[in-house]
Amino acid sequence: MTATENLLTIKHLAKKLARARRIKHISALELTAHQLGYPHWNALTADYKKGWRPSSTQITALLDLVDAENPLRAKEPASAGWDAFSHVPGIALRASRSQSRSAADPFSVDPILGELDGHPFRLNVILDDVVMEGRGWQIVVPEAPSASPEIRVTDRRIKLNPVADQGFQDKAVRAAQIRAQQVRARISSDWPRRSTVADADGRTQHPLFGGIADRWFCLHCDQVSSGRQMAQNLWHCPACGSAPIDIHISKWW
Ligand SMILES: [Zn+2]
Repeated sequence: MTATENLLTIKHLAKKLARARRIKHISALELTAHQLGYPHWNALTADYKKGWRPSSTQITALLDLVDAENPLRAKEPASAGWDAFSHVPGIALRASRSQSRSAADPFSVDPILGELDGHPFRLNVILDDVVMEGRGWQIVVPEAPSASPEIRVTDRRIKLNPVADQGFQDKAVRAAQIRAQQVRARISSDWPRRSTVADADGRTQHPLFGGIADRWFCLHCDQVSSGRQMAQNLWHCPACGSAPIDIHISKWW
């Protein structure tokens, strides 16, 4: 690896981080500098000019950071992103069904199997909604960040349904939300950059139809939203939850 390639590699990884986290590129550069032991990006580039180079271990650590941020696009997706679940007390991830993801459906995600407080569960991603379920219960975290988690009792005959316990329910919702965060990182990484971070004038680009504007219209409920609101809510209407396909640049109807 040549000297310039080194800095390009770091910048490239910072860019990936920025997309997955939906943050400004400079913030991602600062974060990357921190990871490499520098107080800020300028300190890193100053040292770089004096001959400092990242070690291969440091580059690997950066790669791991990017994979952890966007595990559904990681090179080894089977257990990427599992570390994030370690913050949920009582959770144990047992196995991910080792299906190889089909090239025909790049959005398919392997389910995660595990136990929460000893109760088996399955954590699935279905059309970008997260569905976590066990015997007698189901929790859905929709794709839109503004949407609330839905908690359902799916079998009333089960005595001592664990989801009836508030502590269990809170932890299960937390786990489902961690997965949802990972799904949103993948969506943000796949979309045009301008779809998830507004420009200085608050304008954003529609991820499906293109077009750049600072005001957007919901075909479903007539709600008018700002470019920033659309980016924040991943192009779902903040009022009615409609999908990006219902968001239009002009009120043509
Ligand atoms: Zn709407």
